[in-house]
Parts: sequence; structure tokens; C-alpha cells
Amino acid sequence: MDFELSDDLIALRDVARRFAAEHIAPHARKWDREADIPREVVRKLAELGFLGIFIPTEHGGCGFGDREAAVIMEEIARHCGATALLLDAHNALCSAHIIRAANEEQKKKYLPPLARGDHVGAWALSEPGCGSDAAALTATAVRDGDHWVLNGAKHWITNGAYAGVYVIMARTTPEGGPKGISGFIVERGTPGLIIGPKEDKLGMRGSDTVGLTLENLRVPAANLCGQLHQGFIDAMKVLERGRITIAAMSVGLARGSLEESLRYAKQRESMGKPIFEHQSIQFMLADMAMHVDAARLLTQKAAILSDAGQPSNIEASMAKLFASEIATQACLNAIQIHGGNGYTKEVPVERYLRDAKLCEIGEGSSQIQRIIIARNLLGF
Ligand SMILES: Cc1cc2nc3c(=O)[nH]c(=O)nc-3n(C[C@H](O)[C@H](O)[C@H](O)COP(=O)(O)OP(=O)(O)OC[C@H]3O[C@@H](n4cnc5c(N)ncnc54)[C@H](O)[C@@H]3O)c2cc1C
Repeated sequence: MDFELSDDLIALRDVARRFAAEHIAPHARKWDREADIPREVVRKLAELGFLGIFIPTEHGGCGFGDREAAVIMEEIARHCGATALLLDAHNALCSAHIIRAANEEQKKKYLPPLARGDHVGAWALSEPGCGSDAAALTATAVRDGDHWVLNGAKHWITNGAYAGVYVIMARTTPEGGPKGISGFIVERGTPGLIIGPKEDKLGMRGSDTVGLTLENLRVPAANLCGQLHQGFIDAMKVLERGRITIAAMSVGLARGSLEESLRYAKQRESMGKPIFEHQSIQFMLADMAMHVDAARLLTQKAAILSDAGQPSNIEASMAKLFASEIATQACLNAIQIHGGNGYTKEVPVERYLRDAKLCEIGEGSSQIQRIIIARNLLGF
């Protein structure tokens, strides 16, 4: 397996790195404080093609694979987890679901505006009563002539406040369980799609998260996305791949805490010398560097396999689990290295910690990743 970045990947990384340093880093603290990422930034990200990462070129996107996505996501998350999460839900959930499951007509209609960034996309699987156990979802879709009528509630929907397009999973048979769930493409403004207030979150504050109420929401039959009753399988496949993106975000946040810590450790003095000369600080920095490297390698391994069309489910789970947990630890170390300053909003590492914690919860918690990995090991 060749982990070396090609010249194209290095060029893409440098574009993302420059953009993040110039257009994200100086404002990320304000976006966190105000719990909003300005639409202007989303427009700029779209100009770079970052709202069409996976969308095939014939539909106006970049047609990139998981390696490119990982490189972009690491660079954006390095300065702002919330901006990376916005891109994740748009690219790796909403757009990816349409790319995977939609018919040609739907792709022609919905993918180009998503790639151009005319609006962002959202993806709605979780509900107030179930997240990890998504197969227990209770939102219903009942056929009524040439429409489906959706009722129920969705919870924790990233980009939900502003999205132009939502992919919503609902139950299309009365029986419970994973069979009998279907995906629907729903446009903003459809009567019966009620958007709740933004959640007041610990971290990822610039990224909006809302609940959706589906109240006799009439969706044209033509907007069934994928095969009837196969929506759960599509959603699980989308999540499998999405975990590579979350892993890359985690690497970016961990790298951010390492770089901020290196900078601080060289400028801060204690006991007559810069704190990096204290071995205990050096050990924390060494652990952080080792973990960032290992997490990036796991992420790249999953991405390389996925891009080659080979099974990558376990690798994606391992990458997501490891990268998200070391990211939280790296952020805690960074706060420790920054001492009292690290406990304030004057330095970005406290924000990185709040952002990183989400990576251990969203798109399958750490516990769920361990279940997936163990089941594979034990063969059940
Ligand atoms: C900021 C944010 C953004 C999100 N964005 C989206 C989105 O865009 N779209 C979407 O559909 N969802 C989204 N989610 C939902 C997210 O995927 C769920 O929060 C996550 O899957 C966990 O589900 P839950 O919150 O219901 O926790 P639960 O499922 O209630 O879990 C609670 C705890 O129990 C543990 N647990 C649960 N089951 C088991 C088990 N079998 N074995 C061991 N431990 C278990 C969990 O790991 C967790 O620690 C988002 C969540 C957040 C916080």
C-alpha cells in the first residue's frame, strides 16, 4: 500500500491549507462564539470545489475519492471543526447518499446545485428516540397516490437550519427493524417540513444542528431515493464511508492542538527556561505527534481501500475510533501544555477540545465502532 501523497494530492492539500489559514483561522473563534458560519465562507468553499468533493464531474463536482476528501478535511478541521462538520454532512452524507442511491434524473436535478453550493445539503437518519440504534427509527412514509406522506421527527440534523436539500430516512413498511426503511429527497420549503431551533451545543458551534418535524410532509413519489425499503442499507454504506471523513477531521483537530502546543512551548518560560525543555512537556508533545501520525495512516489506509473499491468497513471504523479518541486526548494535552491560558478562549485549543469530542459521538459512537470491529474479529 502506497501512503505517499501524489503531486496532485500535495497540490490539493496546499490549496486547502492556504484557504484554511487565510479564510478560516482568523474567524473561527467568532463563528464559535456566535454559533454561525457566514454563508460567504460557504460560497468561497464552493468556489474551491469543496462542496462537490465526491460529486462526479459530469454533475459539476470534483469527482474526488476518499483520499482527496481526507486531505481536504484534515486541513479545514486543523483550524475549525465546525466548518469541517458542515462539509462532512454536505459531502459525505447528503451528496454521498444521492450519488450512491439516486436515479439519473434525480442526480441531474440535485447534484449540480449542491456542487455549486447554491445551497447546502443535510441528511436525516437520527431521531429523538434513536441514534446508535438507527434501525429502530419510527418516522413513517405512507404512499398516497403519486406522493409519499411523511410523519415523525428527526434529531441532530447538521446543516438542517439552512439546507436546500434533505435526504430523510423513513419507515415504508409497518414492520420494525432495518428492512422497510427508505430514503427520500426533500426540498426546503416543502409544506410539512418544520425546522426546529438550533441546538445550543458544547462544540462544533458554528455548524448548525436542528431537529426536524415531519408533519404530513408530502414528497413526490419521484423523490424516493434508491430502491423502496432499501434505505437503511444505503444509509449504513454512506456512514461506513463517512467515517473516513470524520477520522480525517479528527486528525486535523489533533494536529491543530499539536501545532499550537509546539508554538506555545517554545515561547512560554518557566523555572528559567522555555517549557519545551521540561521533559514532561516533551513527552506530551511526543505522544501527540505519534498519535497524529498513526491516526493519519489508519485514515489513509481506509481511504486507499475505499477508493480501490475494496472492503474498508473495518478499517474505516478503526480509523474513526482511533483518530477521534486520540484527538480528544491531544486537545487535553494541549490545554495542559498551555496551563491557565489553555483554559481560556484566548487560545484555540479549548475550542478544539469541544469540537473533537463530537467525533467520538457522531456517525457511530466509539462504543458502536468497537462493536463493529469486535464482531468482525469474532466472525458474528
Ligand atoms: C453535533 C451533532 C451532529 C449530528 N449530525 C447528524 C446528522 O447530520 N444526521 C443524523 O442523522 N444524525 C446526526 N447526529 C446524531 C448522531 O449520529 C447520534 O448522536 C449518534 O449516533 C449517537 O446516538 P444518540 O445520540 O442517540 O446516543 P445513544 O444511541 O442514545 O447512545 C447513548 C450512549 O450509549 C451508547 N450505546 C448505545 N448503544 C450501545 C450498544 N449497543 N452498546 C454499547 N453502547 C451503546 C452510545 O455509545 C452512547 O455512549 C449528530 C449528533 C450530534 C451531536
